[in-house]
Amino acid sequence: MKELLKKLVHAKSAQDVGELKCAKVLVDFFTSKGIKSKVDVWNKNRANIIATLKSSGKKPALLFVSHLDVVPAENNLFKPIERGGKIFGRGACDMKAGMASAAIAMAEILRSKVKLQGDVIFAATAGEETDSAGVKKFIKTFKNNKLCGIIIPEPTNFDLVTAHRGLLWVKITAKGKSAHSSMPQLGINAIDSMRLFLNELANYKIPGTNKLLGKASISVNKIIGGKAGNIVPDFCSAQIDIRTIPGQNTKQIVAGINKILTRLSKQNPNFKAELKVIRDSGSLQTDENCKFVKQTERLLRKEPKAVPFTTDAPFLSSLKAPIIIFGPGRPQLCHKPNEHIAIKDLKKAVEFCKKLILHFLT
Ligand SMILES: [Zn+2]
Repeated sequence: MKELLKKLVHAKSAQDVGELKCAKVLVDFFTSKGIKSKVDVWNKNRANIIATLKSSGKKPALLFVSHLDVVPAENNLFKPIERGGKIFGRGACDMKAGMASAAIAMAEILRSKVKLQGDVIFAATAGEETDSAGVKKFIKTFKNNKLCGIIIPEPTNFDLVTAHRGLLWVKITAKGKSAHSSMPQLGINAIDSMRLFLNELANYKIPGTNKLLGKASISVNKIIGGKAGNIVPDFCSAQIDIRTIPGQNTKQIVAGINKILTRLSKQNPNFKAELKVIRDSGSLQTDENCKFVKQTERLLRKEPKAVPFTTDAPFLSSLKAPIIIFGPGRPQLCHKPNEHIAIKDLKKAVEFCKKLILHFLT
């Protein structure tokens, strides 16, 4: 069990090398267990993998979706270390343990010779941490219109998650005119323009509240501007991280911010700034009262919860099946140098996956 996880951690799948190596580890695993899988490769080293455990097809299928990629790390973090009942390494928690647990559960179900009435489908996709390229490609080609539910085994520390906020990243760039700062009246100060904008943004409220997620948030996280202590800056940019709640339309939010920019340029002829959307990914809210969530709740003895981080889940909403996020590992350990997973949690995750498969598909 832990051998598969160690191989997956060792198969570096950060942005600089792509996901193919990691997908191949899974192909070898599935092949050795007698489960068919297929890799979709593009741009030389980007990859998705799909594996299916076939059934009589009388019931709708259950789909597990993981991401193959991890965030960057020093090379030594791709050498998994086992210590004190834990496996350390980049991706051990986010989310190669969850991914391994679904694959192992499938192999164990096959070995047990239980007759399944619905297929188990395993998909692991590329680029969740960057461009979500894998999941976008996956939903374009995935053909199965009968799914009872989708499980994303991201690290929730075995919490049953049915909602998360969405993410909208925008970059505002203010333009000015350089001048010697002993005569600032000869220039246009881009930092002053940014200040005007940020003052207005502080009063910008995005309407709406959600029972599990609260309100949308706006955080200005990066500012770059100016060349030297004695030059009026001709340039200033700010990156803004907006977290949205279900029902909010990101186009409307962008329009609202653009309105501030237009108003400021009308009030002040020197004000020049533009907005660019860097990333836009939706929020998740699965109906807590649907059969799939209700049954999962009873089976796992957990109440539905929300998490602050985002996942690829909203991209899967076009498959029209209820989505839950449930997996091993503490979310606080993700993206950290001491990222690890307890081996007992990996085992527990395999048991949970088997329980869900047997409940929904037999
Ligand atoms: Zn993740």
